[in-house]
Amino acid sequence: MSDAVLADESLTELRRSLAGGVLAPADAGYDPARRCFNALVDRRPAVIARCVGAGDVATAFDFARAHALEVAVRGGGHNPAGHCVCDGGLVIDLSQMRGVDVDGDARIARSEGGATWLDFDAATQAFGLAAPGGVVGSTGVAGLTFGGGIGHLTAQHGLTCDNLVGAEVVTPVGEVVRASPDENAELLWGLRGGGGNFGVATRLELRLHPLERVVGGRLAYGGEGVREALRRFRDVAAGAPRDLSCGALLDMDESLAPVLIVAPCYTGSEADPEELRALRSAPGLVDDGVRSHTFLDQQRVFDPPYGEDRCYWKGHFVRELPDELIDELLARMVALGRPPGQMLIESLHGAPKDADATAAAAGFRDAAFNITAMATWQDTALDRQYIGWARETAAAFEPWSVSGGYLNYMQADEPIERVRAAFGSQAFERLQVLKGRHDPDNVLRRNQNIPPL
Ligand SMILES: Cc1cc2nc3c(=O)[nH]c(=O)nc-3n(C[C@H](O)[C@H](O)[C@H](O)COP(=O)(O)OP(=O)(O)OC[C@H]3O[C@@H](n4cnc5c(N)ncnc54)[C@H](O)[C@@H]3O)c2cc1C
Repeated sequence: MSDAVLADESLTELRRSLAGGVLAPADAGYDPARRCFNALVDRRPAVIARCVGAGDVATAFDFARAHALEVAVRGGGHNPAGHCVCDGGLVIDLSQMRGVDVDGDARIARSEGGATWLDFDAATQAFGLAAPGGVVGSTGVAGLTFGGGIGHLTAQHGLTCDNLVGAEVVTPVGEVVRASPDENAELLWGLRGGGGNFGVATRLELRLHPLERVVGGRLAYGGEGVREALRRFRDVAAGAPRDLSCGALLDMDESLAPVLIVAPCYTGSEADPEELRALRSAPGLVDDGVRSHTFLDQQRVFDPPYGEDRCYWKGHFVRELPDELIDELLARMVALGRPPGQMLIESLHGAPKDADATAAAAGFRDAAFNITAMATWQDTALDRQYIGWARETAAAFEPWSVSGGYLNYMQADEPIERVRAAFGSQAFERLQVLKGRHDPDNVLRRNQNIPPL
């Protein structure tokens, strides 16, 4: 598509008023700066404002309003819907704001709005501390936290958003608002799961927990044993103590047969915990990569390439994972006749269930698992087939669905009913009131949108 072009004098004005950099289509660096994780998304903004502080964010909002430009917000650039970039609009790019300060005594990390989990974990691990974050280092701390946050420490310490204790947010009208339990507590509630709807966060404060080494890595299962191994994973997760988080991934081998990867993360004191023994003794184990290693090593267990694959994700939270659903998942893995991508199964046992549900907007605590069909391909000619596979796969497990879908994994074509279902009607209306207070004109609508009431 042809580029929307801003007048030179407008760009000059923005370059002069922003402390950070400005990238327009003709500038070197524009192309890598508009790339996102999902190669299916190929958009060309009129301008990218590389903000370096709250003042820059307010200036960028002013500029967008003055030039009637749509706004997109970029943290780590991982959202599968590609919400971090828009055609012809302005991107508030926070990729230069990646500092993380740690107060080791208070066990609090203060992270700038564009920090990634790699930035965050490196800073906090220097103090022997950690927060429950995402499993891929290049994902943004803010984007992930505001959508909920499920990872290797979920059973131990809850959703990432349960650990959010404060934030500084610049609203689209240029106000700098602080959210904490004592100040704008309603905004803190909304940021805990309500997505990037209320403003651009320039700082997040997250509660930290002592942690250095974990027992983790990957267990791989193949052949006839996969079905039984998946059942074993389900049973272990259902009965697991809080010191064991556990996720699973269905994939395919070269012979087009399903393989199962289980990724446990154990932080307890036992040398050989019963649950890990149960996983290791499941049929079909072909590779045992589980060992004691640093938490930073655990955070590298999944490391997909950035911006290379086309992706389309669709899923449901489910109340249970009965044998019938396991059979359905395995059947869907081979339904396309070629490797379809992966199926992610995240357990929500442990701390998310004990957290004070009224303290956060995130509304899927009743679910046992979050299951996502992640179609992954490269050939543009196969778009329809792969998107179709993800949709049909999610439809096949919809009968077990509870609490809608996971905001952080939604594509841009999800209907508003799915976003509403993720919170429940009451919490959704409360979020709409909050949205009306901080973004009455719905400037921040390139997200899993909560329209103002
Ligand atoms: C490879 C991969 C691995 C992932 N792993 C996990 C995982 O382990 N656990 C999990 O729960 N999710 C995971 N996700 C999903 C991820 O949490 C969401 O897609 C999230 O939106 C990504 O945030 P980001 O900043 O990287 O993305 P971006 O695309 O940059 O931003 C997405 C949206 O987040 C909001 N946002 C970002 N930064 C700010 C800010 N500072 N202020 C206000 N709003 C902001 C905006 O609405 C923006 O449009 C993963 C996604 C991918 C692609």
